[in-house]
Amino acid sequence: MTHPVTVYPTDADFAAKSRYRREDYERLYAESVADPDAFWGGVAKRLDWFKAPTKIKNVSFDLADFRIHWYEDGELNASVNCLDRHLAERGDKTALLFEHDDPNLPAEHISYRELHARVCRLANALRNLGVKKGDRITIYLPMIPEAVVAMLACARVGAIHSVVFGGFAPNSIADRVADCASKLVITADEGLRGSKKIPLKANVDAALKLPGTNSVETVLVVRHTGAAVDMQMPRDRWYDAVVEGQPETCEPERMNAEDPLFILYTSGSTGKPKGVLHTTGGYLVYASFTHEAVFDLREDDIYWCTADVGWVTGHSYIVYGPLANGATALVFEGVPNYPDVSRFWNVIDKHKVSVFYTAPTAIRALMRDGDEPVKKTSRASLRLLGTVGEPINPEAWRWYYEVVGDSRCPIVDTWWQTETGGILITPLAGAIDLKPGSASKPFFGVQPALVDANGGELEGEAEGNLVLKDSWPGQMRTVYGDHPRFIETYFKTYPGSYFTGDGCRRDADGYYWITGRVDDVINVSGHRIGTAEVESALVSHPKVAEAAVVGFPHDLKGQGIYAYVTLIAGEAQNDDLRKELVAWVRKEIGPIATPDHLQWAPGLPKTRSGKIMRRILRKIAENAPDQLGDTSTLADPSVVESLVNERLGK
Ligand code: ATP
Ligand code: MG
Repeated sequence: MTHPVTVYPTDADFAAKSRYRREDYERLYAESVADPDAFWGGVAKRLDWFKAPTKIKNVSFDLADFRIHWYEDGELNASVNCLDRHLAERGDKTALLFEHDDPNLPAEHISYRELHARVCRLANALRNLGVKKGDRITIYLPMIPEAVVAMLACARVGAIHSVVFGGFAPNSIADRVADCASKLVITADEGLRGSKKIPLKANVDAALKLPGTNSVETVLVVRHTGAAVDMQMPRDRWYDAVVEGQPETCEPERMNAEDPLFILYTSGSTGKPKGVLHTTGGYLVYASFTHEAVFDLREDDIYWCTADVGWVTGHSYIVYGPLANGATALVFEGVPNYPDVSRFWNVIDKHKVSVFYTAPTAIRALMRDGDEPVKKTSRASLRLLGTVGEPINPEAWRWYYEVVGDSRCPIVDTWWQTETGGILITPLAGAIDLKPGSASKPFFGVQPALVDANGGELEGEAEGNLVLKDSWPGQMRTVYGDHPRFIETYFKTYPGSYFTGDGCRRDADGYYWITGRVDDVINVSGHRIGTAEVESALVSHPKVAEAAVVGFPHDLKGQGIYAYVTLIAGEAQNDDLRKELVAWVRKEIGPIATPDHLQWAPGLPKTRSGKIMRRILRKIAENAPDQLGDTSTLADPSVVESLVNERLGK
């Protein structure tokens, strides 16, 4: 990058109270990679085990002798760790703080004792319905406490949950139900998002008419909005009716550490979603440890992660991490712009949120509306901010830091994947200086490396493909039902390492900068250009709200740069501005990055988790709209249609 990078040094006041200082990070990191067995054996003590593990790590990425096992002779139950063990000390502490979509409804405070009782009642009901250890259960619920209860009830009886985001349509539900042959589906009458009703039960009905879904014997329906829905007897049962009268205690299933905990389908940015399988012991150790360390957790924190439980961020950092740590987690049903664009900040003030974790897509969207909706709120309770999901453009980072955090709260830019179970590259506030746009340094035990196209490891300051040279406890174990795809996708490209699929740069200070997905890297006349860098240059222009950049075939350069640009509210699209933006990128990065085409985009195609789908934009740029590939995870298909029409000059 030609730009000087501003460093935000660790704040002395923050560091005075934080769990880790610079020296701690360096020492513990060195210990963690020198002796993983000692390090992760120690960390595992944070959980309650029926039988403590004596074997810690048993991993080989060698294809002839492939295995990933952690804590393989340990036995535990995830729900016991998230509930029972807190009852003595924290029984009355709020576990879940539920904020409705409608800001006028009173928030619900669910204590650990109450959550334990609710989980046990549902777990008993599931057993009565014939659910056994190893059965798959699909959860298709809005962001309501029952979603958390359902996940933990599955864990209690040893069933494997597969949470499907409530924004998915019947086809996507059916694919996911069929892929893992679910026996039972837990849904609600309707969901609510920004006062809009989502017909969840009707979607399930439509999904279960599709081929491959015969495995489903029972559908449990939570009464949420109270809307009338079709109940098909004997398949469909009301949730409140089946849990009524169930005992408030329930014998937990003894799970081996390597027994599956859940399946979760990736968001589909790069292709057909994969059924990522996580197991019990390693995942829970890793989720709880990273949650405590990265968010510098304190006993009295009010912690809010805005992700949906339908994504891995919701699994690890709303449910399993925070609850295993006895934290208070806010569960928010709504959206950032309802009833207005101050909602996030109002919720923070209302509940005195101290740690806030969200996605760059939300930050960029809220930035479009300016500072005033933020500034009119207090946010004095905040002490730490986090982001995840995409590279955060430095411009958005600064806005988050200065406007949302009043230049007071460190930001942890956390890089990880559904596959990794938890955060792998992140600053630890108090220990690591911040650089806007960089996820910074590896977490304990994580060994990133950069390799060239032939797999040769690059040393020092370099840019290449990001791999992980060794395992960590939260690593996925397989693609459900397709182990060959697991090996093929992650371990064949660079033998001996896990391939992340992401491109990355390491600077002179050893900081990691994710440049985007490797498939998205553009090769202009032999120069590799990361999409993230060009996009960030565009977003740093005062009139640009969001940008997506892809490569397209170019006669002379091999690949040219094609930019899609969304302007901030109220700005006019015209040729002068187009030229100005092209010149701007040229000045910010250099002539090599000059966009060849710049198309206005009133909206960008995104996954349902808010990530830009560049593979679709690439096809549009290539003028091949008939080859868009899997579009089932698109949040709003009409966006694609309008971009295609514009491209074709219709
Ligand atoms: P699919 O694997 O189906 O294409 P996906 O990769 O979008 O979907 P996720 O597991 O939700 O599914 O996303 C992980 C990816 O998100 C990472 O590989 C990376 O590209 C991106 N990402 C996540 N966090 C960050 C971050 N802090 N900085 C940069 N990129 C990030
Ligand atoms: Mg991915």
